[in-house]
Amino acid sequence: MCYAIPGKVEKIEKNTVIVDYFGEKRKALNELAQVKVGDYIYAQGGFVVSKISPSEAESILEVWKETFFHLQEVDLKLSRLHLGDKNTDRGLLEILDKASQSKELNRDELLYLLELKDQAGLELLFKTANFLRQKYHKNSCCVHGIIEISNYCIQKCHYCGISYHNKELQRYRMTKDEILKSAQVAVQEYGFKSLVLQSGEDPGYSADELADIIKEIKEKFPSLIFVSFGEVGIGGLEKLYQAGARGLLMRFESSNPKIYRDLHPGQNLESRLMHLRQAYKMGYLIITGGLIGIPGQGKEDILNDIFLAKELHAEMFSFGPFIPHPHTPLAGVKPAQVEEVIKVLAVARIIDNTQAKILVTTALETLSSEAAKSALLAGANSLMLNVTPLAYRQFYSIYPNRAHQSEDIAVQIESTVSLLRSLGRAPTDLETI
Ligand code: SAM
Repeated sequence: MCYAIPGKVEKIEKNTVIVDYFGEKRKALNELAQVKVGDYIYAQGGFVVSKISPSEAESILEVWKETFFHLQEVDLKLSRLHLGDKNTDRGLLEILDKASQSKELNRDELLYLLELKDQAGLELLFKTANFLRQKYHKNSCCVHGIIEISNYCIQKCHYCGISYHNKELQRYRMTKDEILKSAQVAVQEYGFKSLVLQSGEDPGYSADELADIIKEIKEKFPSLIFVSFGEVGIGGLEKLYQAGARGLLMRFESSNPKIYRDLHPGQNLESRLMHLRQAYKMGYLIITGGLIGIPGQGKEDILNDIFLAKELHAEMFSFGPFIPHPHTPLAGVKPAQVEEVIKVLAVARIIDNTQAKILVTTALETLSSEAAKSALLAGANSLMLNVTPLAYRQFYSIYPNRAHQSEDIAVQIESTVSLLRSLGRAPTDLETI
């Protein structure tokens, strides 16, 4: 979104460029033929997404000049580590001390963290995760825009409000022109550099039609595109990659095959994982994770979920709370607790210090308006804003009362930028060198 800083290309080595941001050097993959040394570019997710004119870049950089270093100072201050006092549980202190030195924790230690209940202990865990986030990812924070292109779905997931079973729901499927218009608004009007196109598993679009849409978005509105259409098959993934998609958002939902089977009639975990593994091999950036608080799930399962996301080479973890939808078989189950979810994000940061970004999910924001801030101070460093046309958003009802359901894009951007600035986070979403 508009929370993005242009960088200047300093060096090009094959398909890798070195980009300068106020003296700091970052690396990105470049697929744009016209980029040369001295050009100004925007990058997201490690990819150069567009080139901008020197005059535009210089005027944006003028605005950012002081803010850039000021934000780093604010972030550093907020992520200092003070590990408890003499009343703090010694066992916990030892575990967190080990974690803060990036030493690997064993399963028992990680389970101990996932079992934490008392407030003082949780605060120390969150601080440690924030310290590690700052140490390895600095103050960068990426913000994607999501367009929910259709709520038709052939799957019957027990938790999901847009599942085939929900006959109460008004269905919609955006036309190609509507999708292009939404992408244009997001990229050209609001400055998003990265878009997620999501839908239920909807055979109403063929892989060729989706590929055609992606190709046109890439040509007209340069951006990093993630797809999230469910299991489109390996051939489908290939077509979408050829068209220009570079990311896949697909949660495995639960690493426990029994829980997976119980919640997904007619589907199996292996097929989902096969899509994720093949997508990684094709070159997709992977966003994956699972639901927290689903029936039958224990702390061991959650730990396995985090390890599985890491094993799948997630460039971003997406773990969010289950929230019951009234027209699903899980209507009577309680939603996950905010702190339980933030605890999972913090433990995920401890398990994966360096590689993965961690997303604050909309579902977490739905549980509490303060949750995004708390999660960003407990290891998370990514956000997703909803850029689906307002007329359709209410019908993408995977759970009720979704955060940002009726907020227009400008309002979401304003509150996000103000939150990120208050926490000292800046939009330099590239690998530091
Ligand atoms: N069809 C795509 C797929 O299969 O990945 C994407 C759409 S699906 C609706 C997007 C995500 O919504 C799922 O990965 C699931 O975790 C989440 N979701 C569905 N119902 C939910 C609920 N009741 N509470 C929280 N998250 C939910």
